[in-house]
Amino acid sequence: MATTVSPEVATYQQYIDGEWVGAADGATYEVLNPSTEEVMATAPAGSRADSRRAVAAARRAFDAGEWRLKPQLQRSQIMFEIVKHLEDVSDGWALVEAQNAGAVIRKASVIDVPYAVEWFRSMAEQALHLQWYEPLPWIDMPYVSWNFVSREPVGVCAGIVPWNYPLVFAMWKIAPALATGNSVVLKPAPQTPLSALELVRAIDETGLLPKGVLNVVTGDSIEVGAELVESPDVDKLAFTGSTATGRKVLAAAAPTIKKVTLELGGKSASIVCPDADLDIAVDGTLVGVFLHQGQMCESGTRLFVHDDIYDRFVDRLVDTAAALTVGDAASFDSQVGPVIDGRQYRMILDAVSRARDEGAVVATGGVRAPGAGERGHFIQPTVLVDVPPGSHAATEEIFGPVLSVQRWNDLSEVVERANRSIYGLAGGVWSRDTRGAIEIARQLRTGTVWINDWHLLNPQAPFGGFKQSGIGREHGVYGLREYTEVKHVYVDQNVPRRDRYLWDVLLG
Ligand code: NAD
Repeated sequence: MATTVSPEVATYQQYIDGEWVGAADGATYEVLNPSTEEVMATAPAGSRADSRRAVAAARRAFDAGEWRLKPQLQRSQIMFEIVKHLEDVSDGWALVEAQNAGAVIRKASVIDVPYAVEWFRSMAEQALHLQWYEPLPWIDMPYVSWNFVSREPVGVCAGIVPWNYPLVFAMWKIAPALATGNSVVLKPAPQTPLSALELVRAIDETGLLPKGVLNVVTGDSIEVGAELVESPDVDKLAFTGSTATGRKVLAAAAPTIKKVTLELGGKSASIVCPDADLDIAVDGTLVGVFLHQGQMCESGTRLFVHDDIYDRFVDRLVDTAAALTVGDAASFDSQVGPVIDGRQYRMILDAVSRARDEGAVVATGGVRAPGAGERGHFIQPTVLVDVPPGSHAATEEIFGPVLSVQRWNDLSEVVERANRSIYGLAGGVWSRDTRGAIEIARQLRTGTVWINDWHLLNPQAPFGGFKQSGIGREHGVYGLREYTEVKHVYVDQNVPRRDRYLWDVLLG
């Protein structure tokens, strides 16, 4: 792929032990804009040495205790101070996200940036309500004692994230870890390190975190992340990425028995009932699948439409999908931007060809977006109909703007088909009958179910997958608890020697 290096290309650095540094060996790599395929920045091409340095800094900071031992109120107040600065300086981040991650700017400015900042605030606030100390009931077995449970930070937490939501995911790893008193090493995806570095630059500007508590390593080699996964000095790994990589990461983390949470892939089923409000269900389906070019783990990519409304529904869906404006993510006119890189672009178009070969019909899209010009990874939003159940397009995550549509007419059968997947990240139901929709939701084996909407996550609601979509949860108290250990403390209540009959097992 041809790239153009402009003399104004920005040079980014990693953040290790409170300093902005290059890679240990000085190597750099080019960071591209997926809309133009031009080089927009260079970043350090880190290696295992860089990750080791960052982990050592995080370890020192954790062991020194300046952050971990702070009373929660103080820790949260510091984070609230940081949020004020993030609000002041985050204006430009939407453009960075548009240019680096291909997030259309109308989305990045309304969703990515405000959500990321709000997440930081909310994690600090919710950490105040965690049960940090819990007295246990009085007990006289074997003799009277006072027992309590304290909750403590886990230690050094590594966060490894994919390229689709670089700013939001950086925050999803940093905020809960910091809020609960841990040290963090974040590794952004090679394609999209820039917004995470901007975020950390802003946090650094406040000077409010102790040195070494927050670190970011970058690079285009998997060694950077592999070192974090394997390091005995990393206590917890929070990984977001594909199920295929998740399997490798889980195996590589096993020798050090670290705590691992995994947020992996999905092929989420969206069930349209015959009584659905079509104005809501058609547009909602489009938002559910084509927002951010379908590059969202919980996108509703498997659509089941009831026979009674199938033709009307699909006609409207296809017409509206075909009319979406695809173009440069930095333009406010673009509704759909580019996919992240040439590799994804080819994989998506190959998946469409395979779907065709397996009997699906391409109702719209399946090609390079007309009018997109020669540069940029633009794919026309694609609707596949008559997708054979069991085919690749019906079962595998494509992670691009591709919707596969199937029919249904029997409720228990469609629920069974929806659940027939290795994934269990999300699902959805479109119906005017709320009680009936909740009943379907109860039967879907997924971590999230939306009724008459899609994508709506919030910082208090747990997010994560059933089955091979992951392990553990992010957000809310459910997510914060993943960043803590619990400790039982037993306090003797002056039990006389003669009453300590258990000792007599050895000594009596
Ligand atoms: P990926 O699994 O290829 O990479 C994710 C991250 O892991 C990147 O930072 C990558 O550099 C790193 N990595 C790759 N191999 C590694 C290894 N052996 N050891 C350590 N780190 C390694 O995923 P991707 O292509 O960047 O992202 C798309 C995938 O992410 C999709 O499958 C999508 O569903 C999934 N995803 C899941 C969620 C969720 O919350 N469940 C959210 C977004 C994306």
